[in-house]
Amino acid sequence: MNTPRQPRETRSAGLEPLAVLPVFVPLQDKRAVLAGSNGGAPWKVKLLAAAGARVDVYAAAPSEELRGVSDEIAAGSVTLHERAWTPDDLTGAAFAIGAMEDEAECVAFVAAARAAGAIVNAVDRPHLCDVKFGAIVNRSPLVVGISTEGAAPVFGQTVRARIEAMLPRGFKHWVAAARDWRETVSARFHGFAERRGFWERFTDRAFAEPERAPTQADLDALIGQTEALPLGGAVTLVGAGPGDAELLTLKALRALRNADVILYDDLVAPEILDYARREARTMLVGKTGHGPSCRQDDINALMVSLAKSGKQVVRLKSGDPLVFGRAGEEIEACRQAGIPCAVVPGVTAAQGAAASIGVSLTHRDAARRLQYVTGHDRRGALPEDLNWGALADPSVTTVVYMPKRTLRTLLERAVREGLAPTTPALVTFNATRPNQAVVRGSAADLADRIEAAGLEGPAILMVGEALGRDKVALPLPETAAASR
Ligand code: SAH
Repeated sequence: MNTPRQPRETRSAGLEPLAVLPVFVPLQDKRAVLAGSNGGAPWKVKLLAAAGARVDVYAAAPSEELRGVSDEIAAGSVTLHERAWTPDDLTGAAFAIGAMEDEAECVAFVAAARAAGAIVNAVDRPHLCDVKFGAIVNRSPLVVGISTEGAAPVFGQTVRARIEAMLPRGFKHWVAAARDWRETVSARFHGFAERRGFWERFTDRAFAEPERAPTQADLDALIGQTEALPLGGAVTLVGAGPGDAELLTLKALRALRNADVILYDDLVAPEILDYARREARTMLVGKTGHGPSCRQDDINALMVSLAKSGKQVVRLKSGDPLVFGRAGEEIEACRQAGIPCAVVPGVTAAQGAAASIGVSLTHRDAARRLQYVTGHDRRGALPEDLNWGALADPSVTTVVYMPKRTLRTLLERAVREGLAPTTPALVTFNATRPNQAVVRGSAADLADRIEAAGLEGPAILMVGEALGRDKVALPLPETAAASR
């Protein structure tokens, strides 16, 4: 018998090192100075002016392009002074850019600008810069800055293009509306949960209709919906999928972003927790297949008491919560305590494994039925009441969860009950994770192959003729024992 564990608080790994710190500089109505007229100067002037700065440009011999810049300016303003800069020109500058050809002159400019208290950049001279420019995606007031810290400009440009394509142009209207409505919303809703509820609904609407500019009617409707929301704690059972974080649903992401507390199992891949709100408390509540677990009653009690204290609780489970996840007991505990409880489905291990190995579980020439079976009962033994006729059925695909301990006995018994020994069978370890591995064989020899392979991690067994029918050729039982 395992000693039960206690739920324990865990901490996320924290921040990975950052090559640079991205910060955003408001320049509206501030003074900016650019001196020199090298090739990078015109674009920098445009950027400063686009950010609303009053830009003074000092260039004894400005290029044609630099002369033309002021005609293109929508925000801010540009004044061109056709002479060399002097230190006095920097007085009151919030931002200064050196764009001269001569290194010594640029060094002098940077020193003068720093002395005047400006933030300094020097075109093509990273060693003289306090700050550097990145690639930009502009949906103002939504602004995305991208940096590879000089390591890979082309890569950065491609990332920019991807984000550009991903962010609808109309987002600028929605974010502008958010800025304009912020005060009204804060005055209307005082609690954190309500405000958050409002802004979530607002964001949903923006994503649903990104190209439409929001109106007063939207504001009224969103306020109405938010007022209709029940307040207080709740529990959401969320499916984390088999491992690959990209298999999370959008609803699962939303629940993770909203959670005050996340209670998760060992089988939940650690990357998934990176999607949680940073302030969320995370608690490991155990449940490895065979190792010590927290008692289900303790988990239920913890979940309920957190929700009663007003918390948004996410109970994060591997795969789908309603497949071999003891969700029934947790839902019941919430019901009895009068706590609202919702379920967000996830990709179950069987589906993750099938997709990764490219087999159709219901190939129409080979399978009429698909069944999910557990490989162990409450005590960890092969359940005595499995339906052996169904397991021996030649037209079924059987997926066995938690198969490790009882795999040999299960397959031997199925063969005795009439399953053809040649029936294709395979086990997927760590489905959808980077260390996924598949061991293939037949009902007769898979157990030996698994033993020989000596693999670790969560594993799922599949048995059935359909597994031999797919275009992805499965090696015959007598060939490779294990393949990755
Ligand atoms: N609710 C989960 C199942 C929980 S039971 C789901 O829907 O997937 C735990 C069992 O799920 C494990 O013993 C194993 O059989 C299976 N499992 C979970 N994640 C897996 C993975 N990444 N690869 C293979 N099997 C997995």
